[in-house]
Amino acid sequence: MRRYRAQNPERAARNVREAYEANRESILERQKARRVALKPELAEYARTYYEANRERLLAQERARREADPETFRNRRRRYREANPEKVNEASARYRARRRGAGSVEVGVSWRTVAARDGMCCSYCGVLCNESDGRRVAARDGALRWVCGPTYPTLDHVIPVSLGGRHCMENAVLACLSCNKRKGARVAPPREVSAA
Ligand SMILES: [Zn+2]
Repeated sequence: MRRYRAQNPERAARNVREAYEANRESILERQKARRVALKPELAEYARTYYEANRERLLAQERARREADPETFRNRRRRYREANPEKVNEASARYRARRRGAGSVEVGVSWRTVAARDGMCCSYCGVLCNESDGRRVAARDGALRWVCGPTYPTLDHVIPVSLGGRHCMENAVLACLSCNKRKGARVAPPREVSAA
């Protein structure tokens, strides 16, 4: 067999190709089954690989993005539309880290807080409304988020800038209006109306 291949490289290559074409479906199916079975290991491998090559991969990604910004914008938009919760949670973490949060818990966003506490603002009690936020075309044609006063936001009871942690324990739901008013102050206890 090996000698046959060595003596007839072209024909051997053609045989392999023809065998592949003839059994393409079942080969692809077998490969897929193997991928599914190996999924946890592959994910672990991908993570380790990413961590070991982070700088290089990020530079590569940046170069590709600069070469073809349009494709990247579209891909990001599609991802954002398909995964609003993931995007929301990741950007909350990103912002907390940028403001100097020492430790950043995964899975903290206004959505996870609302799932725990409900949709009422923990300061004024108003029912927050996600559809109070809209994408609006600005003059330059770019779409921007414009949020009204009852748009739900994540608020840190002890602000991150004052050493508060980005974690569920330190998180409450606040309407945008209260969040803006509160700013970087420690949250006052909720006012109870005398009615
Ligand atoms: Zn409020």
